Amino acid sequence: MEFAVESGARSMEKGIEVRKNQTLICTPLMADTADQLVELMYKAKAKGADIVEIRLDHLKSFNPRFDVPKLMKECPLPTLFTYRPVWEGGRYDGDEISRFEVLRLAMELGADHIDIELKAAHEFNKFMNGYKSERCKLIVSSHNYECTPSVEELGDLVARIQAAGADIVKFATTALDITDAARVFQITIHCQVPIIAMVMGERGLIARVLCPKFGGYLTFGTLEAGKVSAPGQPTIEQLVDLYNFRLIDHDTKVFGIIGKPVGHSKSPKLYNRAFKAVGFNGVYVHLFVDDVPKFLKTYSSPDFCGFSCTIPHKEAALKCCDEVDPVAKNIGAVNNIIRKPNGKLFGCNTDYVGAISSIEDALRGSHNGGNGFSSPLAGKLFVVIGAGGAGRAIAYGAKEKGARVVIANRTYDRARELAEIVGAQALTLSDLHNFHPETGMILANTTSIGMQPKVDETPISKETLRYYQLVFDAVYTPKITRLLQEAAEMGAKIVTGVEMLIGQAYTQYENFTGLPAPKQLFKETMED
Ligand code: NAP
Repeated sequence: MEFAVESGARSMEKGIEVRKNQTLICTPLMADTADQLVELMYKAKAKGADIVEIRLDHLKSFNPRFDVPKLMKECPLPTLFTYRPVWEGGRYDGDEISRFEVLRLAMELGADHIDIELKAAHEFNKFMNGYKSERCKLIVSSHNYECTPSVEELGDLVARIQAAGADIVKFATTALDITDAARVFQITIHCQVPIIAMVMGERGLIARVLCPKFGGYLTFGTLEAGKVSAPGQPTIEQLVDLYNFRLIDHDTKVFGIIGKPVGHSKSPKLYNRAFKAVGFNGVYVHLFVDDVPKFLKTYSSPDFCGFSCTIPHKEAALKCCDEVDPVAKNIGAVNNIIRKPNGKLFGCNTDYVGAISSIEDALRGSHNGGNGFSSPLAGKLFVVIGAGGAGRAIAYGAKEKGARVVIANRTYDRARELAEIVGAQALTLSDLHNFHPETGMILANTTSIGMQPKVDETPISKETLRYYQLVFDAVYTPKITRLLQEAAEMGAKIVTGVEMLIGQAYTQYENFTGLPAPKQLFKETMED
């Protein structure tokens, strides 16, 4: 089987999808009947699969003499035949000789690959008695549903698979921690024969996505989310469209979002679209991390260049950095880590940058515009509602810009604690309604009041909003909250939580790439 790997420029000219690696996307197909399998083969081809794995053990009605030739004849893609027994995680529970006969038939009829389990390889080779089709590659596989062994044990496993006559080595292990994938990368990169090395489970996702970077033979991409043949398989679309799988090569820089949970994050879409649009050789992945220090220590090579951090790791991330931006240090949380050329980790907090710069932009757009150097927030009375993570970041950011900060919180003690650290005044939420020592103030809601589904709630009366020149809301679902709606009605400028979200992403993108963020593209992606 051969695939053309085009140079970027040549492919662009011809309007062909650029492909920078030879790693195949293999779609596992499971169905009750051979006719249904044929239907799925065409769907896999339409979605962009390179090869299909035909899982014979899932067929409910199966007549090998009739069905195998049919599947072979009608398949529009190269094939991999697997007839997995129950004892290796499959569904076949018949005798071994009948199973071997089916695999031999597939080979005789022109299958591109057949898969045999390491535990059965010796018996299978005896059964084949030296017969081997020129065209067909023998994959010898081993599955570990409990853990990922040490590098030494994996190396030994690969040697045993090779000794069993494999043209292609395959093993799949289970990730108990994301660092398990690092051992699999080490084996993949040093393997002398083609290798399929997968790590199952959400914590193993990077082994599936980064497979072309380390030279893996194929990765599995499913037709639909959740319809997997092994835990943690992404869909073909996720591989191709979300992670730009075809563009990953040995030199691709790796970025990602560290969180737990993390699968819901839309950040990979935002950054990978931008990387592709500007031709930056990077990939941004979901990183399901349990232990931040262990993760950063394990993935310490220069290729793992930068990370975003989300709940619950922002405090732990701060402790792992060699150098921390002073504002992030004061806030007590890092949401962006960059690996510097000397290998040191630099941590900063872009959450506040996103909010504060959006507020500054909105103020500059008004008659109150600054001189381009000092912040339009300097000297302003800046009221922050909330004393949680976002409140802390915005209070520090405003203070840094020279504003006079007031913190109002439901739990007064938390407001007071934060006010003492920042150098601000503390209020209760109820005080807020009568708090209007001057006009032209700035208000920032950093609580979840007004967030879906409780969209009718608001933290302050409409009447009081007349004293504010600008109102910001960190809530971004809905984009226009009741607070913002009423603020606009009272004549205030408004800044939405979506602007904060995009603003912090611009800064992270620039930190990651050293390039200006494609702002229009970011906005379009967010609107999507
Ligand atoms: P957090 O650390 O849990 O803090 C929550 C804050 O909201 C606390 O001050 C809490 O007061 C207050 N609060 C919660 N429910 C309340 C209620 N019913 N009435 C009055 N006060 C209430 O959360 P966070 O991480 O700061 O996030 C807060 C909000 O900001 C969330 O809606 C989040 O989605 C949003 N956010 C947006 C962005 C963005 O990019 N737009 C970024 C980060 C966060 P107590 O101290 O009294 O509990």
